[in-house]
Amino acid sequence: MQIIRNASLTSHRMSIRTSPTRLSAWSAAARSFSSSSPASLFRNSLQPVAHDEAHSDPRHARMLRMLMFGKPGAGKGTLSGRLVKKYDIVSLSTGDLLRMHINDRTEVGRMAEEIVAQGGLVPDELMLQVVTSKLDRLHNKHWILDGFPRTFAQGELLNTHLNKQNTPLSLVVNLDVPDDIILSRISDRWVHLPSGRVYNLSYNPPKVEGFDDETGEPLTKRPDDNPEIFARRLEKFYSTTSPLLDFYARLSQAHISTPPHRHPHQHPHQLAFHTTPPHRLMMQSISGTTSDEIWPELERVLKDAFPGLKERVESADARRRHSLSDAIASASMNAAISK
Ligand code: AMP
Repeated sequence: MQIIRNASLTSHRMSIRTSPTRLSAWSAAARSFSSSSPASLFRNSLQPVAHDEAHSDPRHARMLRMLMFGKPGAGKGTLSGRLVKKYDIVSLSTGDLLRMHINDRTEVGRMAEEIVAQGGLVPDELMLQVVTSKLDRLHNKHWILDGFPRTFAQGELLNTHLNKQNTPLSLVVNLDVPDDIILSRISDRWVHLPSGRVYNLSYNPPKVEGFDDETGEPLTKRPDDNPEIFARRLEKFYSTTSPLLDFYARLSQAHISTPPHRHPHQHPHQLAFHTTPPHRLMMQSISGTTSDEIWPELERVLKDAFPGLKERVESADARRRHSLSDAIASASMNAAISK
């Protein structure tokens, strides 16, 4: 396979430890980045569809503000990408954001490079600023956050930030994929860095080997997907990230168990109007061994809880690009057969 590796992803020369001085440098870097980051960081290449007229079911007004939660390699990026392609949703991946910074040699990228390469976690303060600078532009949009939060502190910071904006999370989906499955498939993973699209040579190969389906650009192997570093990332998940599931379970329970406020003269039947508060956080775990297996259940959860989500209408431009990449794929297949 002909793959052009990204040279800037392979040089790592920074200390992982952070001092208070360094932390303020992190904040400054994050602030300067927040005003200049490219729109292409959102996985959202198709045209959004127009919203329907107001619907009487209050669930239709509910906004998707979702965490895609799961181990590294569980398929968060693949499944977010599928949702974004099909529905009027924007997705934001902190791993993609960091890789783009590293690739572009920005200040944030230079600070994060060695940590990412070693499978460590970038400091919470920097991550929060990197993420919120994007999220704050997504008012009135359905969105998915992939790869954040990864620590308890990040979870609390995010919650406080979103509550202040009156845009609390509405859904947490935990992708439950066994470790041995993840470990066996990680060596087959290739990514298209600019979009974050993920391919797997065994069950989700690109149409043309080594190249992205949408743009025809070369695919890259993530340097932190090597077995030793990957084991470290998995270990970090168990020690630091998975406790967040309890945090979100408690938050979703808190919403359910809080008795609705009742006016003294209100008839008890009127309580029915309060049983599905618009801001209720839902949590759902979905088990499976491949993204294809998880996809139908994931889609069902979203459609049931957010019936107002609209499917996209593919733009003429996107249609042209798809038929072009199909044509290239079939030409290269014909060439291979006739050899
Ligand atoms: P991912 O693509 O989500 O697996 O992220 C790749 C790497 O980026 C991780 O192994 C971390 O080094 C770093 N990273 C991504 N998101 C975060 C986060 N929320 N907090 C700290 N580090 C992160």
